[in-house]
Amino acid sequence: MLLEVEGLCVNYGHIEAIRDISFNVPEGSVTTLIGANGAGKTTTLKTLSGIRKVRAGSVKFDGKDITHAAPYDRVKLGISQSPEGRRCFVGMTVRENLDMGAFVRNDRKSKAYQEDIDRVLALFPRLAERINQSAGTMSGGEQQMLAIGRALMARPRLILLDEPSMGLAPKLIAQIFSIIKEINEQGTTVLLVEQNAAQALKAADDAHILETGEIVRSGKGSELAGDDSVKAAYLGGD
Ligand code: ATP
Repeated sequence: MLLEVEGLCVNYGHIEAIRDISFNVPEGSVTTLIGANGAGKTTTLKTLSGIRKVRAGSVKFDGKDITHAAPYDRVKLGISQSPEGRRCFVGMTVRENLDMGAFVRNDRKSKAYQEDIDRVLALFPRLAERINQSAGTMSGGEQQMLAIGRALMARPRLILLDEPSMGLAPKLIAQIFSIIKEINEQGTTVLLVEQNAAQALKAADDAHILETGEIVRSGKGSELAGDDSVKAAYLGGD
C-alpha cells in the first residue's frame, strides 16, 4: 500500500469534519473519494498534505508514519496536491507556476528537470502554447491543467487531485479525466476527490463514499457505478 489511513479524525474547533475514516491507496491505482458538498473530501486531502492537523488516527506513506509530518516534508517524500479551486499564482506566468510546483527540488538546471517540464507540456499542449502568459488571464480549464502540471513538477509518487472537474464544460471534463488516466499510466498513483461521481467512479480502481465525515461505502469503482443505491443517491438515478 502506498498510503494507509487509519481511524482518521479531523476537527474544525468543535465541528467533527472527519470521523474515524480508514482507507488505503494501493500503489499504481486511481482511488477516488466521492461525496456531496461538505462531506469532508477537501478536509481529507488537506490533512493528507499536512495543512490540517489530525485529532486522532494515523497516516502512513510507503510504510512510514507521516501523521504529524510537515507539508514540506510530505512533498519531499512524494505527495503533492492540486488544490480545490486551482489556486494558480495568477500574477505569474505558466512557466513560473510550474517552477513553483518544484519548490522542494534543487535540480532546476538539470536535464531531469527539463524532462519533467517537457513531460508536463506534452500532457498539456495548451500550457506549452501559453508558457509565457500570465496564469490569471487563462480560462478555468487551462488553470486546472496548470494546477495539475504544477503538482506534477514535484515528481510525486502520489498526486492528490481536489475536484479537478469543478466548473468545467463537459468536453473539458472528459479531457481532464483522460489526462488523469495518462498520468496514472505513466506511473503516478492518484487520489481523486470529486463531486462528479459518475466520471470519478468510471476513472477509479477503488472508490469510497463519504457522507458527513464518514466512509459509508467502499468498493471497486465499476462495482459502485453499477450499484442501484449508489446510482440513486449519487448518479442522478441513471
Ligand atoms: P466541498 O465539495 O464543498 O469542498 P467537502 O466534501 O470537500 O465539500 P469539506 O470542505 O471537507 O467538505 O468540509 C467538511 C465539513 O467541515 C463541512 O461541514 C464544512 O462546513 C466544515 N468545514 C470545512 N472547512 C471549515 C473551516 N475552515 N471552518 C469550519 N468548518 C469547516
